[in-house]
Parts: sequence; C-alpha cells; structure tokens
Amino acid sequence: MTTLFIADSVFQNHLVPEGHPERPARLAAIEKALAAPVFAPLTRENAPAGNMHLATLAHPAGYVGEIVAQAPAEGLHFLDADTSMSPGTLPAAFAALGAAERAVSAIIDGEVANAFIACRPPGHHAEREAAMGFCFFNNIAVAARLAQARGAKRIVIVDWDVHHGNGTQDIFWSDRDVLFISSHEMPNYPGTGAMDERGEHDNILNLPLRAGDGGRIFREAFETRAFPAIRKHGADMILISAGFDAHRRDPLAEIRLEAADFAWATEKLMGLAQSLCGNRILSMLEGGYDLEGLAESTAAHVEMLMGA
Ligand SMILES: [Zn+2]
Repeated sequence: MTTLFIADSVFQNHLVPEGHPERPARLAAIEKALAAPVFAPLTRENAPAGNMHLATLAHPAGYVGEIVAQAPAEGLHFLDADTSMSPGTLPAAFAALGAAERAVSAIIDGEVANAFIACRPPGHHAEREAAMGFCFFNNIAVAARLAQARGAKRIVIVDWDVHHGNGTQDIFWSDRDVLFISSHEMPNYPGTGAMDERGEHDNILNLPLRAGDGGRIFREAFETRAFPAIRKHGADMILISAGFDAHRRDPLAEIRLEAADFAWATEKLMGLAQSLCGNRILSMLEGGYDLEGLAESTAAHVEMLMGA
C-alpha cells in the first residue's frame, strides 16, 4: 500500500497581494522537494474540482453562498486585512474539498494507506460562519464529515500548525465523536486556544506553547497529553492539519521545531493509527511560510507517511 499525494496547479491560482506570506510559491517549494527520487513510490493525483455542496458539510449554506458571491471576476477582494479572494480562489478552495473527498475514499476503500494533500488556501481558521486568517472553507472539517459519511464515526484531528485551529474548534465544539487537538504558540494569532477551552464533551484539547519552546517541549506535550487523549477517545480515522509554521525558520512564529520533530509526530500518530484504525491517516497542508523550512518539513512528514 502506498501514500496518496494530491497536488494541483489549481491551488497556485489563488493569488494574494505582493508580500503576503501565504503565497503560491509555497506549493512550488513542496512539489520541488517531493520530486526527489525517494518520493517515486508516491501515488500522485491531481485534485477533483469539488463543489459548493462539499463546503456545506462544515458550513451553513448561507455562509457558503456569501463567499461564492464575493469572488471577484478580476483583481482582489478583501474579506479582512489579510484574507483576500482572487478569481482563482474559489476553484482552489473547492478543489481542496474535492481532494479531501478523493483521499477519504481512497483510504477507506483501502487503495492507499494514507494521504497528504498539498492544497491552498488553508482551512483551519475558517469558522462555521467566518472566513479569516487566509482561510475560507475548513478543509479538515469537511474531510472529517466526509470520513464520517463513509462510516468512520470517531474522528481525531491533530492540528500542529503554530496557530490555534480556532475554526476547527468552533465547528466541532459540541461534537462528542470528534476529538480536536491543537498545539500552537500563545500568545499569537488568532488569540484563542487556551487550555481551559475544552469543548462541550471534553472533546477539545488545546496544547499552548510559549515563544522559544522547541522540540523537547512540543514532544512532551504530545507524549503526556495528546497521545493518551487519542487512545482514550479512539479513532476510525486520524486527520492532520499539517501546518509547518512551527519550524524554527518560520517568520510568523517563534516555536523552534526541526523537520525531525514533524517526522517524530507523524511516526507516533502512525503508530496510533495502526493500533486504532488500520493505519488510516489523512493529512492536509495548513500554514508554513519559510519556503526552505516548509519544504524540508513536508518532505520529512511525507517520507514518514510512506513507511506505513
Ligand atoms: Zn499557521
């Protein structure tokens, strides 16, 4: 069994203002890194187009309609100071959901062991009814709903992006079947993610880190809090909001992880997936803004996934 890698030029057509960190070059850097010979065994696919309906799995139809209505025919349309749409934004955002649907099916049907989707725009800041922080639709939340629709009822979402996954927390706050775990720098954007935010059913686990923390403290938080919570909750599929902006080179935060720390977390989650859910892991790109740090971290993550 192999690892499915979904990438597509459609994701680079979501354009942003000059100097914006969440830029198309991020994906070019990832694709270049994953062109190395060690990645030859990957099953490579482009992203299906996706559609509005997929977005309604995690957002009210009215909200999805509002986003669609704001898409510009040319130029940029700003939803807030750092979240803007270009003509290529909707096709990219929908394709991320189409890719999630394809990957969930491929994993549940046993075609592949696991999958990584190199998509943008990212999704984890998108709340039920709010676009923010470079995000419009919550990709990983839609993936969770798709997995549940295919019979994978108990979901674990691990979000190691350096920013709190406020959108994912908002969507699953009252959902006892979904355990959401987020490690992130605090204080930092978006400001939420304190340890006492635990969800209606104790199904939210926030692991705030401090600026300057590195791999030792990150690993300790996962070992002592995240992994026991996953074992207790159980899982029919593990989803990863794979942001790589906790890398020490990243310009948006001060957590000092190395690519090896992401590989370590990946390996540990694979061990849990092996014992809990037949290896099922779906990982989707979130942040990561230093091209070198992003490329080496993604490569380490995907190379580990290939060992399943
Ligand atoms: Zn981030």
